[in-house]
Amino acid sequence: MPSPLTVAYFTMEVGLKSSMPTFAGGLGILAADLMRSCADLGVKAACMTVCWQHGYLRQTIHHDGSQSYDDMHWNPEEHLKKLPQTVTIFVEGRPVTIGVWVYELAGAKNMVPIYFLDTNLPENKPEDREITHYLYGGDQAMRIRQELVLGIGGVRMLRALGYRDIGTYHMNEGHAAFLTLELLRERDWKDEDVRRSCAFTTHTPVQAGHDVFPYDLASRIAGDNLPWHIRKIAGEDALSMTLLAMHMSRYTCGVSRIHGEVSRSLFPGEMIDAVTNGIHHLTWSSPEMQALFDRFSPGWREDPSVLLETCRNYPDEELWTAHQAGKARLIAEVNARTGQKFSVDRLTIASARRIVPYKQPELLYSNLERLKEVCQGAVQIIHAGNAHPSDPFSQGVIQRMVQRSAELKDFVEVVYLENYNPDLAKLLTQGADIWLNTPMRLHEASGTSGMKACLNGVLNLSTLDGWWIEGYGFDPEAGWRIGPLVQAVTPEEHRIVDAEDIYTQLQYEVIPEYYFAGRTRWIRRMKRAIGLIGFFNAQRCVREYLEKAWEE
Ligand SMILES: *Cc1c(COP(=O)(O)O)cnc(C)c1O
Repeated sequence: MPSPLTVAYFTMEVGLKSSMPTFAGGLGILAADLMRSCADLGVKAACMTVCWQHGYLRQTIHHDGSQSYDDMHWNPEEHLKKLPQTVTIFVEGRPVTIGVWVYELAGAKNMVPIYFLDTNLPENKPEDREITHYLYGGDQAMRIRQELVLGIGGVRMLRALGYRDIGTYHMNEGHAAFLTLELLRERDWKDEDVRRSCAFTTHTPVQAGHDVFPYDLASRIAGDNLPWHIRKIAGEDALSMTLLAMHMSRYTCGVSRIHGEVSRSLFPGEMIDAVTNGIHHLTWSSPEMQALFDRFSPGWREDPSVLLETCRNYPDEELWTAHQAGKARLIAEVNARTGQKFSVDRLTIASARRIVPYKQPELLYSNLERLKEVCQGAVQIIHAGNAHPSDPFSQGVIQRMVQRSAELKDFVEVVYLENYNPDLAKLLTQGADIWLNTPMRLHEASGTSGMKACLNGVLNLSTLDGWWIEGYGFDPEAGWRIGPLVQAVTPEEHRIVDAEDIYTQLQYEVIPEYYFAGRTRWIRRMKRAIGLIGFFNAQRCVREYLEKAWEE
């Protein structure tokens, strides 16, 4: 019989490793990091997610910059253990059987089971076996089916696995909100009883990113799963998964302070707090940095907050040597993959993320003449990032970036590495000198890749958005901001000012500081960047959740 749980964490994606493509991006990576820290801290947690046959797709970039996105084949049996339990839910009036796999995530203090729900079973009709095929694939009807599997199937599976006593059901994004309907059913439709045991994290700062379904479609697919008063709790005109999650939770938060504010303006009158994201310090630090921390930040493995106080103890030479080791790995990989001659002695800027318009991946290239003038052979740039396979606009962005690199090559070397995944993220955030991030303001909910960079002494050069408003505010010496502090101008003006400011920062601060003899100021910044992760780590994040959202 499983013991009581403090939290059952429901999430559409979990990014545990590159070879298990059950995630698409930051949301899944965060879920994995939080569960790792729960296991380190001994928090009694279980995670419920979906066994996607095809989550993120393998990107291949062709010579002309065009791309293909192929299914990544993986065999759950090689990574997960199949459990005998099954549950049944009703979708479009017919029974769908759901099986389950488990991944036992071990940490310093306990083990957190990650349960993967799976409809790809012989007893299901072919169309129902497909429900767990493609993460975020398919139309709205498919999305509703998938969310029924996660929410309703997930709660039933917890019962089938023997979990009765669960302090908090946590919804990581609105995808999981149907879990509240199953809890309502279990608790005789008493909203208050359900609300007492649910908490919700919203991740999406733009209205269009929230799941909203027309009621006629939702009724057709979800049928009796929807309670009679669904319009009261999920919106009068359409079924909003965010409203449902919020109205059935006693605690809701965004993922950074600014994102909390943006969420409150998207949903006026709702109580929305903020818990700023963090990263799992043991997962994202390079072996050389770990060795350095072991010597000069004793206790950091158990409690990463010690990085804050101890980061100034690193001897300059040794910190630099540890950094250069990570950089050598990255540069070797770049040269092996591209046939270029990148050098470990040249200032290296990395910019890697999912390619979507709000991340403004081309901001650095808005004025090519300025870029050439500023770089003059002193800079090498590495990009990576997948576009969505059905997003030709973003695929075009990648293609342009690849083609532009040829045009720029006498002034600044630019490469685009294919297939961004957690392994490549590690190489990049452990081996670059600068981590460049230029989201459109108020559009980056948090971002965690910049934290991975900090942890390894890689300096952020980033727009003031998401977590970096807090990180930069905490310690302006830990990196650089792009653009002014004020949010007073229009988005278009911001874009122009931010674009120009990148060149100014590079020309007058970043490049001179990097090449200045001894690099004293640079290395001091590296220490301060590492110190930031004394706060922006997943352990602090879990403690905050324990205090605010998971209290019993
Ligand atoms: C950390 C990580 C992300 C999230 O990073 P952002 O800062 O949101 O861009 C996305 N994908 C991978 C593979 C990661 O490792």
